[in-house]
Amino acid sequence: MDAAHQPAINPSPAHPIGVLGSGTMGSGIAHVFARSGFSVLLCDLAEAQLDRARQSITANLAREVKKAKLTEAEAAAALARITFSTDRSPLQASPLAVEAATERFELKREIFAALDDLLPAEAILATNTSSISITRLAAVTRRPDRVIGMHFFNPVPVMALVEIIRGLQTSASTFAAIEQLSRALGKQPIAVNDAPGFVSNRVLMPLINEAAYAVMEGVATAEAVDQVFQLGMAHPMGPLTLADFIGLDVCVDILRVLHEGHGDPKFRPCPLMVRMVQAGWLGRKSGRGFYEYPAQK
Ligand code: NAD
Repeated sequence: MDAAHQPAINPSPAHPIGVLGSGTMGSGIAHVFARSGFSVLLCDLAEAQLDRARQSITANLAREVKKAKLTEAEAAAALARITFSTDRSPLQASPLAVEAATERFELKREIFAALDDLLPAEAILATNTSSISITRLAAVTRRPDRVIGMHFFNPVPVMALVEIIRGLQTSASTFAAIEQLSRALGKQPIAVNDAPGFVSNRVLMPLINEAAYAVMEGVATAEAVDQVFQLGMAHPMGPLTLADFIGLDVCVDILRVLHEGHGDPKFRPCPLMVRMVQAGWLGRKSGRGFYEYPAQK
């Protein structure tokens, strides 16, 4: 099928977009689809997690109303377009599923195999993975040409970028459909090929890692390193503040994927960050990372 024949992915209450995983990213992805008029089935393993996702989406939509980005009626309509469920079976006629579950290959492999069995043969299966190979996930399915990376950024309702990653097998028509859809969500798609860390994490993580080495070696304090980037390079936040926001465990995991995938020692995780993760200092979410966050403790 070439780009001209790829059916556009349109909003349809009868055929919702599936979002698998309702954590930080899945909730944000469901939010932006619903805000743009798409019906969404947001799935997770347990009702308690889905309740948290509903609360978080409700609060984030209310924030957009407060900032006059949405009217109250638009926010209510967006929330009403999301069905929260532990049951994926309503996806059997869906044109698209976006997987945003925990970053583990075995788990994503199971989800992709199940979605391949459930969704129509022409449907596209996308993943929001930060580092796992799209080519490898595509090979799990009988539709490798319709598997693609759709990498959103946190917080999803705010960040403009969607990094679109082609696996080796991804067809031009699948790419065109996801590019068009990203624009319909109000996002800016950027195309990259499948390689460990894609572009975003391949370039960002060495910066964070080197900043951590600078602290470990006593070149400067975390505050000073961050100020160099804020004041000298006009970064809105320094690399270590950003690392705390992302989660130091997540940063170390991604660096390990980069190290293994490229086989290059320049990606070796900084021992200081590794030790901080071992101590449970994961950044903002645990109350302590390069900085302290007393409210989170
Ligand atoms: P998270 O831990 O907040 O959420 C993951 C969710 O997946 C959990 O609620 C978990 O219960 C659910 N889940 C696990 N197995 C499932 C299954 N079989 N079916 C349905 N749901 C399942 O994680 P997150 O930060 O939202 O990350 C999700 C994905 O997005 C990962 O692949 C991650 O690499 C990627 N990502 C994260 C960020 C970020 O800044 N957090 C940014 C870009 C991409």
